[in-house]
Amino acid sequence: MDYFTCPEKKPVLSLENVSYSYHTLSGETKALDHLSFQIYPGEFVAIVGPSGCGKSTLLNLLAGLLKNQSGELLFHHEDLYKTVHQAKIPRIGYMLQHDHLFGWRTIWENVTLGLELNDMMTPANLENVSALLEKYGLDEFRNKKPSQLSGGMRQRAALIRTLSLNPEVLLLDEPFSALDYQTRLLVSSDIGKIIRENKITALLVTHNLSEAISLADRILVLTRRPASLKSQMEISLTITDASPLGYRSAPEFSEYFNELWEDLWDEKGIG
Ligand code: ADP
Ligand code: MG
Repeated sequence: MDYFTCPEKKPVLSLENVSYSYHTLSGETKALDHLSFQIYPGEFVAIVGPSGCGKSTLLNLLAGLLKNQSGELLFHHEDLYKTVHQAKIPRIGYMLQHDHLFGWRTIWENVTLGLELNDMMTPANLENVSALLEKYGLDEFRNKKPSQLSGGMRQRAALIRTLSLNPEVLLLDEPFSALDYQTRLLVSSDIGKIIRENKITALLVTHNLSEAISLADRILVLTRRPASLKSQMEISLTITDASPLGYRSAPEFSEYFNELWEDLWDEKGIG
């Protein structure tokens, strides 16, 4: 099956034989091993793999927080690390498990922080953030502190802060892990919708297979550490009810789930 490369389309992100090792006093830890894949504009790709296999390392490389050591890591055909560090405005957004909202700032002061730090507090940009707050149900909380909001609302606020800079690519590292099951279902579906509506290319690391299947167009399965690509799967669900639980009742859902489970079982677990 050759859905790995689409010669007619230009990838936003491209990895060719990317390897990465940590060097510490106690020795070398190889985290990524000849990892190759492409991400195309507008795709929503989920990444699953065993705990400790190198998923966060991969996202840190894609965010330009770590420098590539070997192989080729490209953002629009240019060296990613260089492009990210030369850009005036961040083009790749990053969202983590903890929302990293500042407790002493109001929601408005939090969601405009990215604009403030990048000297982009123009009326048009502020208007855009205002519209996002309104659209995603946080408008009435703009003067509240993060502690006055639910976990799900805080994640939405964190996402709006990331979106305020209009990133082209959004990296999400287990962003829903701290939420309880029901909230997680609702928030992941909300956030999936926001990402699609804003036509953002997204990479989501998750250990929740159902979440990966219901949100993503494609799922990459990584091997245990050092991570390389074990398999990938295109997801196409025939659903009539586009709710978080609706997706899970699509006839293909359990087939995808079983296939992923088997791949991961080979690699001894998920996380
Ligand atoms: P995952 O996100 O898949 O759980 P990580 O990318 O966080 O995995 O970690 C991959 C491996 O690299 C682990 O064995 C981890 O202990 C190691 N590692 C991660 N960060 C560092 C670091 N800063 N220094 C040394 N080793 C690290
Ligand atoms: Mg991790």
